[in-house]
Amino acid sequence: MSEREITITLADGSQQRVLVGTPAVEVLCGPSGHIPAELIAARVNGKAWDLARPLTEDAKVEPISWDDPEGQRIYHHSTTHIMAQAVKALFPETKITIGPAIDDGFYYDFDRPQSFAPEELERIEAKMREIIAADYTVQRMEWPRQQVRDYFGQHGEDYKVELLDEFEGDVFSCYQQGDFVDLCVGPHVHSTGRINAIKLLRVAGAYWRGDEHKQMLQRIYGTSWPSEELLQQYLHKLEEARKRDHRVLGRQLDLFSISEMVGPGLVLWHPKGAMVRHLIESFWREEHLRRGYDLVYTPHVGRIQLWETSGHLGWYKDNMFAAMEMEGQNYMAKPMNCPFHIQVYQSKLRSYRELPVRLFELGTVYRYERGGVLHGLLRVRGLTQDDAHIFCRTDQIKDEVEKVLDLVFFMMQSFGFEQYKIDLSVRDPKDRQQYIGSDAVWDQAELALESTLQHMELPYARAEGEANFYGPKIDIKLVDAIGREWQLPTVQLDFQLPERFDLTYMGEDGQRHRTVMIHRAILGSVERFFGILIEHYAGAFPVWLAPVQARVMTITDRQRDYALQVHAQLQTAGIRAEADVRNEKISYKIREAQTEKIPYMLVVGDREVAAGKVAVRVRGGNDLGPMPVDECLAKMREEIDRKA
Ligand SMILES: [Zn+2]
Ligand SMILES: [Zn+2]
Repeated sequence: MSEREITITLADGSQQRVLVGTPAVEVLCGPSGHIPAELIAARVNGKAWDLARPLTEDAKVEPISWDDPEGQRIYHHSTTHIMAQAVKALFPETKITIGPAIDDGFYYDFDRPQSFAPEELERIEAKMREIIAADYTVQRMEWPRQQVRDYFGQHGEDYKVELLDEFEGDVFSCYQQGDFVDLCVGPHVHSTGRINAIKLLRVAGAYWRGDEHKQMLQRIYGTSWPSEELLQQYLHKLEEARKRDHRVLGRQLDLFSISEMVGPGLVLWHPKGAMVRHLIESFWREEHLRRGYDLVYTPHVGRIQLWETSGHLGWYKDNMFAAMEMEGQNYMAKPMNCPFHIQVYQSKLRSYRELPVRLFELGTVYRYERGGVLHGLLRVRGLTQDDAHIFCRTDQIKDEVEKVLDLVFFMMQSFGFEQYKIDLSVRDPKDRQQYIGSDAVWDQAELALESTLQHMELPYARAEGEANFYGPKIDIKLVDAIGREWQLPTVQLDFQLPERFDLTYMGEDGQRHRTVMIHRAILGSVERFFGILIEHYAGAFPVWLAPVQARVMTITDRQRDYALQVHAQLQTAGIRAEADVRNEKISYKIREAQTEKIPYMLVVGDREVAAGKVAVRVRGGNDLGPMPVDECLAKMREEIDRKA
């Protein structure tokens, strides 16, 4: 058989003819075989590909480097193979399961009766460095099912056999480096020496398949970076994040708790946390009223028929709390507020003149999340969405989306978030079947979202195929004080629910027309937003949000009456103030107030009493010296108004 040629198109558009079976690396780097340090893998017709893997058809071939999220995933995932190789070398009785890449790192789940001790992690890390230094080629092999089965069966790797039995197909890729073989779709870096700086972080228990009835495994987390400098930066960021952990600060500042007796994922707001929530919610509510939204309240449960009509029973049932029966009727706790707002809209005939109708609510919903994924305030089972639904005409979409985005940025800036990233999620043009609604409506909606972003001169990334099946959306990620990204605000068009509930309005032409529905949330949920806010501010809330804004402290008992008088004056002026007139050393009182992250500490001694002043210290240690109470009040008032 004569050797066939294929046409390769490179990223710059240039083309070349090569023989079938030419490895991707050869068209990217030339025949010299030298692979530049930054090159991690190839992308062949859009699919990530091992550098050494042969090309088999006409293809567009592009390099994947560290700057590419896919490149980071491959890098991290390749490191997890090295970790598994090291574990098998040191502890041969351990069984391997799966080892995916995660954000900024990777893990691998091992079956081993005992946990890995810290010194064992160090040994694994040292072994990984040996494997990296040995620079084993990572070789892709394609084996028939029986060969894979025999190999892992003979090596006692039951989990791999179990996985294999669930996969469809006849041929499977296995990857080998040194004497270590793993069943994996790949791709990986070219050789183990391509991995540079590594660090194993921690061990946690994890059930096989996330199922608490199955085997408990040992999950080792780690991270890897192309340079020692980047690794150190990342470890520093982790350390910062650890110090800001909202679960630790939540306890320390007495903001909230979660009681096993009440139930996992159900938050108890303590007075100080509840005060911050009240302030967030009041601000949020007032701003919505100012911007033409109408406030509604809706129940926490609804009849099962409602959830049938909305479709939640079809596609969301697994996340809903079980039904409860009353007088022969079944009710379910709401996982979303949408159907209730729809019922408010539908309570009367709507004319085109009334639209848009903007209904908003801080609606508490209940969603089942597996016990293993619950995480402080960030992943809970009872959450309060800052929800709104806008019912409008097609020609109003653009205007409404622009107004929503304007509100989003106003709110986010008020909470100290200055940086963000925007994704516009649209249909997969190759698979239009999976979406509900006509092409014409989708085209119009996608265009409306995109032209709004352009009109507002907002940078965004277009995510093809990331739209909901019921409509396109805009998602916004906020960047917090230490550079972490949080997905919060979302604006989603919906063509499904208006059909299911037959939402209409009476047009100018006297005919009924289909209403467009926009779901939008800004904070996401109050619980999660509060968790993020605690970490963003490291618990030191700005004065306008601080549960206690000022504390008056006496140096001795002699200033007691004066301190209480100042305290009363602050309270009358609307400041959330406390008085500490205990018989304790002033240094102790100040230290305690610092730990509680109270923004203003007003110290009174004999001199302050005589002069009718307070000595002002601000959180962080700055001593502003003595000033009249009025002056201090004015200073605080200015900061509160500025939301500083
Ligand atoms: Zn792999
Ligand atoms: Zn909704």
